Amino acid sequence: NSSLPGSNDSLADAGSDGEEDSVRVVVRIRPPNDLENNRKDKVITQCPGKGALWVDNSTSGGRPKQFTFDGVFGAETSQYQMFESCGIKKLLDMALDGYACTAFAFGQTGSGKTHTITGPMTMFEDDTGQDAELQGLIQRAFLYLFDSIGQRKRRDPSTVYTLRATYLEIYNEQVKDLLNPADRPNLPVRWSKEQGFYVENLFCPEFENIDDIMAVLEEGMHNRHVGSHNLNEHSSRSHTMLTLNLDCEMADPDDASTYVTKHGKICFVDLAGSEKVKESKSAGDALVETTNINKSLLTLGNCISALSDPKKRSGHIPFRDSKLTKLLSDSLGGTGVTLMVACISPSAYNASETMNTLRYAVRAKRIKNKPLVRMDPREKLILSLQRELKRLRSENEYL
Ligand code: ADP
Ligand code: MG
Repeated sequence: NSSLPGSNDSLADAGSDGEEDSVRVVVRIRPPNDLENNRKDKVITQCPGKGALWVDNSTSGGRPKQFTFDGVFGAETSQYQMFESCGIKKLLDMALDGYACTAFAFGQTGSGKTHTITGPMTMFEDDTGQDAELQGLIQRAFLYLFDSIGQRKRRDPSTVYTLRATYLEIYNEQVKDLLNPADRPNLPVRWSKEQGFYVENLFCPEFENIDDIMAVLEEGMHNRHVGSHNLNEHSSRSHTMLTLNLDCEMADPDDASTYVTKHGKICFVDLAGSEKVKESKSAGDALVETTNINKSLLTLGNCISALSDPKKRSGHIPFRDSKLTKLLSDSLGGTGVTLMVACISPSAYNASETMNTLRYAVRAKRIKNKPLVRMDPREKLILSLQRELKRLRSENEYL
């Protein structure tokens, strides 16, 4: 197994899970934008259904290509349909059951990553509030989670969920806390046996209702804006990660006198643009940025390549080479559950970047995780001993 120490040893499997599960990969094609329309760019993507995607790559010299993914969503797909059909609901259910889940969007700048994850950035730029129709996966996930928690509590009144959130940005290989930006500009990424990789001193507020968590998102989006001189350039080069920790305490279904705690989480990652960053000629900051961005995305690409190759999968995976991959290590080939949304433009103009994104998507589909419920190992041991005792007692009754 390629997963790192920390994840497997410390948080034990709660039951019969731990079976291999492929990373789920879906593709979203955005509508042509004004520039592409004005240029009368040829549309090169078609989605005939059943997860098929055809790309006419002839303008950039390639042959037409056919792909199959876990879902392909065309330009007409609404934000609502995306949430309903992309597979995120399964991740949210699993996060509530105690699994570590990650949804991430990747693709070139302008392909619709932020639109998919949080909705259009313009939604956060004025005070008019969010347009509900345009809300992305995150806001819809919040609503779904509160709804599901309500249902679970009605079914089992002993259930208590404690919800906490963190929101960070990785820019230039520096981790910034988007909920506490004034603190320190570069928080260290550390590793511990209990937690695996984590960011030290990240502000992690608890929240109890939908308004609080919406406020957390808005605060983070706001701070992302404030901290950047050139918003478009900044957002195309930074990775953001919003994580909801869902600690669930509930009575053991087999023995109501015992409580167990599961530590589920759902993480939403909006990756930096995957386009090849051109060599920057200028000295100083700009040059550093180029190098570091290459490092983070390059490392992610290297990890995905290695994990997708059955011969290399069990060998060394270079997670430790960048902050991004350290923090994503459990969702790639680890014990988490992962959804990737590959975002692409429909236009011939972007054909080569689109093909590049799809090549990664194909590789990502081959990555296998072994999802495990995250529970304290001692608690798990007690639980299994109690079950064993109960079994022995019931056997004795028949003797
Ligand atoms: P990225 O985050 O990948 O750089 P954005 O999400 O910011 O790209 O999208 C670029 C522009 O295209 C934005 O104005 C966004 O609102 C628009 N856009 C992206 N995807 C869609 C979509 N599916 N439907 C409508 N507009 C979209
Ligand atoms: Mg973006």
